[in-house]
Amino acid sequence: MTDEGDDWLDGDYALPAPNPLEQLTGPAFNEDESLRIIGLVSVTVTRLTDWPADKEFCNPYDGTAQLAVDRICLAGLRRFPQNHRQGNRRYPRSLTDLLAWCREHDVQEWDFLDLPTELSIEGTLLDPHTAAPSRLCQELALRYEHHEDPAGKSIRSITLDHVQRQYAEAGMPGGQRALLEKLVASPVLTSTAIASLRISRRLRIPDGVISACYVPVHERYFDRRGRANMCTSCGSLRINTTTGWRCEIEDCPDRDWVQGGESLAKKDGLYHATRPLREFLIAPIRIGRARRRSRMKPDSPRDLEP
Ligand SMILES: [Zn+2]
Repeated sequence: MTDEGDDWLDGDYALPAPNPLEQLTGPAFNEDESLRIIGLVSVTVTRLTDWPADKEFCNPYDGTAQLAVDRICLAGLRRFPQNHRQGNRRYPRSLTDLLAWCREHDVQEWDFLDLPTELSIEGTLLDPHTAAPSRLCQELALRYEHHEDPAGKSIRSITLDHVQRQYAEAGMPGGQRALLEKLVASPVLTSTAIASLRISRRLRIPDGVISACYVPVHERYFDRRGRANMCTSCGSLRINTTTGWRCEIEDCPDRDWVQGGESLAKKDGLYHATRPLREFLIAPIRIGRARRRSRMKPDSPRDLEP
């Protein structure tokens, strides 16, 4: 430290003592911090939804989840200092509280945050019917994880760039087209099909890329008989709700079609494309193709151009 620095700490130049609330709440609570909090919550929600059934999720939570809850409690305490009693809650106080909040409250109602007014985000982070992360939640999570602000690159570009980077890291820059076509044609694969894909000399998809793009199907996509149900329109696996099978994709024309779909067996060891790939890449292309087919127009291969 310089002499000047030492002098600065003495006598009249000493810093004012921080007030106790500032020490407690850490970084300034403002629009940036509100965006950071909603990003942390979205990442937490998407991770928790795909958390393996056989892996315990308990306190102390995964770092992102814990940070999200901590920051919300501090923001709430700062925003509503007179409203801290349990009865009249204006902000969630625990992870279970937060998940209920994500399902029941539109983000517009999260008045413990100061989201930028020009940012038009609305909707719940968890779908009220399927409890799956909403499209909004996935978009916020992807932007947070890829350090893209809400006005930045389109989600489709972020998703395609991510695939492109995986190929570059595998030493095969520009080779992603075969993978993208495979994903759109076969969003769900059996373990046998995955094994064939790994050794396919025609497609030449690197092992690491296959593992990053196709993940084992989570328990909650199966019914009690060990059957999963694939939406014939968008190609995603549907959720078995109390009112029947329901597609997770918000824009899917067959979303509420509780019957039908292709039945698949758990014993075949199913894999499906990761959630962002399903939502932002595969489903829009398949739904667009189905619409064009229904209008009797020829299909366009340009869909897959990055
Ligand atoms: Zn669908």
